[in-house]
Amino acid sequence: MGAVQLRAGVHYPRSAGEFQSWFATDADCLDYLDWLRWPEGFICPRCGHAGGWPVADGRYKCSSCGGRTSVTAGTLFDRRRTPLTVWFTACWMFATGKDGVSALSLQRALEIGSYPTAWAMLHRLRSVLVRPGRERLTGMVEVDETFIGGEEAGLRGGRARGKKVLTGIAVEVTPPRGMGRCRMAPLADASAKSLHAFVTDHVEPGATVITDAWQGYRGLDKLGYLHDRRSQRAAQACGDDPGELLPAVHRIASLIKRWLLGTHQGSVELAHLPSYINEFAFRFNRRRSRSRGLVFYRVLELAIAHDPVRYRDLVVNPQPKTTPPTPPGKRGNPPSMDRPRAARPWQTTDLG
Ligand SMILES: [Zn+2]
Repeated sequence: MGAVQLRAGVHYPRSAGEFQSWFATDADCLDYLDWLRWPEGFICPRCGHAGGWPVADGRYKCSSCGGRTSVTAGTLFDRRRTPLTVWFTACWMFATGKDGVSALSLQRALEIGSYPTAWAMLHRLRSVLVRPGRERLTGMVEVDETFIGGEEAGLRGGRARGKKVLTGIAVEVTPPRGMGRCRMAPLADASAKSLHAFVTDHVEPGATVITDAWQGYRGLDKLGYLHDRRSQRAAQACGDDPGELLPAVHRIASLIKRWLLGTHQGSVELAHLPSYINEFAFRFNRRRSRSRGLVFYRVLELAIAHDPVRYRDLVVNPQPKTTPPTPPGKRGNPPSMDRPRAARPWQTTDLG
């Protein structure tokens, strides 16, 4: 869908009111997902054939192999019992909230029966946020590593950290104090091997990489980067604040720590920290997006292109379910494929 010029009020809702009027029923949501998944018309996921027709059960029948496929089959929403209207509202809150939404707030807002259901929905949404092959950072990039997840700032080295994860942070900087995009990822340790891999994964060769004097960053110049090493001792000698050698990464680190303590009240399990880090970076990199509705669109676009995520892949130590799953009968109305499509605002424009 790269060529489509997306327009507010046409391709994505401008406001919460517009969101509510567009997506009042599961059928509305299904139509929107249909458009997101197959903007040029149905393509059979089994045989790749383009072309088919809607059948009575709400699925498409391939005109080549005859296989039947629902709009949500093979996507994040595959076989989910939660109504799509609830999913869409969760996605709206997740995408449009300045700081996202906690599982507890979501459970209360949507009157979802159980906390684990709300928790799993948010984790499923988080799991779609990283796309392989996305562009690396360019220009001037500050890189540092810090422990995230604990209450105290960590130290470098291999000591046991309990509830902290060593996290690499890279952020584009534009003088004097501007910041561009950021990338973050968990690191095994602060060795040259780990740090070099982090930099090559997230920063485009040719960029200027600004680090402190830690030995783990030595050798970046041999990997195709201009390396600007800043030493604390030199800063102190000049009378500069040694804590301000890398102001942008330190700003990011304090923002994410505050977000984990604020929105999520610090209730983030160590094993899930990487997905929270992804969510933070996703939102940070869209902080100047001209519309929050566009962010909502992006999340859904990723979700409909994402494989299903099983509950047992979300939980680290699967526990017996404490509450029964929602009965299938609550799923809502089946979509009506023969409804007049022009009634949907996102289908009225030429998508060429
Ligand atoms: Zn087919």
